[in-house]
Amino acid sequence: MALGEFERIDRFFAPLSRGADGAFGLTDDAALLPAPPIGTAWVVTVDALVAGIHFLADDPSDLVARKALRVNLSDLAAMGAQPYGYTLALALPKDLADPVSWLQGFAEGLGADQAQYGIHLLGGDSVSTTGPVTLSVTAFGTVPRGRELRRAGARAGDDLWVSGTIGDSALGLRLQTGDLDSSGPGDADLVDRYRLPQPRTALGPALVGLATAALDVSDGLVQDARHMARRSGVSLVIEASAVPLSASAQRHVDRSAALLHDVLTGGDDYELLFAALPSRRGEIVRAAERAGIAVTRIGRVEAGEDVRVVGVDGRPLGGLDRGGWDHF
Ligand SMILES: [Mg+2]
Repeated sequence: MALGEFERIDRFFAPLSRGADGAFGLTDDAALLPAPPIGTAWVVTVDALVAGIHFLADDPSDLVARKALRVNLSDLAAMGAQPYGYTLALALPKDLADPVSWLQGFAEGLGADQAQYGIHLLGGDSVSTTGPVTLSVTAFGTVPRGRELRRAGARAGDDLWVSGTIGDSALGLRLQTGDLDSSGPGDADLVDRYRLPQPRTALGPALVGLATAALDVSDGLVQDARHMARRSGVSLVIEASAVPLSASAQRHVDRSAALLHDVLTGGDDYELLFAALPSRRGEIVRAAERAGIAVTRIGRVEAGEDVRVVGVDGRPLGGLDRGGWDHF
């Protein structure tokens, strides 16, 4: 059954705007953003996802929806912002087999995450395309004015921290593609981490006033560390043995040390990498406890402008640093 644009909006998307001030039930030409709470500023971020590039064409549509939302929420968290709402542009192939059930699942995925993260759909557009499923989410959040977390701001002498665990998603992708043999039942968690990001929306705002610089790890820990190093004009030294791994990821690395490369460069972690003064260690640990996520000190900030991954002896990881690591 074909659905017209208005029917699509009415049936699947308008209910998602319920409770959003200024969205007018998606019945008007545009939405209103209220003035942000006194002393705060709007933070805006946008991400586009294309089937075949960012997800598989036959991925369940509820997961596609949640991933699209969550990569944006992760960017808001990286700025220290509290999520508020989002707009959505969706292009569906004309020849999609069952658009009604695809949209049904998609809207259910959005609804579940709206409830989880306390956000609403503010507006959007839904069109047909001769290409693959393509969607774009623009997310809005608020941050205390002038106190947003930037990539610039890390200073020599700062500690370097990361939230959660690193590498689960990279190993999960390899498990899902059959590129890596399963090592036990915990592997399902690795695949889950790949399929559904867990943005650190509680930790990000809690780091405002504590972190000197922050970003979310999407490209890979080492690549994203380079982004911070460049923007801050510093060197970041990462102690490989301090990088937190889940029990499942550790089991894979114990079996095959070469997988440490995937862990450190694989990406899709959606953890927060941040720098902070050593004098703030206690406050950071307490803030993370309140946010319900572990944080780990993985290194330090030094003068210079590069990223070094060092072993327990303090020397750049042998073999890795030269050969396969050159592309950093
Ligand atoms: Mg980011």
